[in-house]
Amino acid sequence: MARAERLAQDLSLQFTTLRRRTLEVVAEEGRPLGAYDIAERLSAPGKRVAAVSVYRALDFLTEHGLVHRIASRNAFVPCEHGHGAGESAVFLICRSCGSVDETISAEIERSLDHTLAQAGFKPASRIVEIEGECGACQGRQEEG
Ligand SMILES: [Zn+2]
Ligand SMILES: [Zn+2]
Repeated sequence: MARAERLAQDLSLQFTTLRRRTLEVVAEEGRPLGAYDIAERLSAPGKRVAAVSVYRALDFLTEHGLVHRIASRNAFVPCEHGHGAGESAVFLICRSCGSVDETISAEIERSLDHTLAQAGFKPASRIVEIEGECGACQGRQEEG
């Protein structure tokens, strides 16, 4: 959260309570969370938080590179890498346990740049999602 705190100071008033709480919920969870799950967690008895407000908060957080959206899960994960929103990230998504690992690779960044330039394609996001089975789950299967 240190980076979020710094960013919060830079953006001062823009870092509203809802945005901050949304980031906290995403950061505390060990797996990707959907906007409805986040709204659920932010809601208190008699004080419901609408998913549409959470979506707006998530837009803000995504824009500032504090969270990423996993398109294939329609869910959000915190980002600890401190890279800009326009940089690429590779997500390794485990189908068995649902864990998501974010990695960054200068090599992928370079070849993605090259591929995009060749295709004359302007990306809205540069996120690569790879589904499969994480190391821990592969180990479990071998034992069982
Ligand atoms: Zn990231
Ligand atoms: Zn796994």
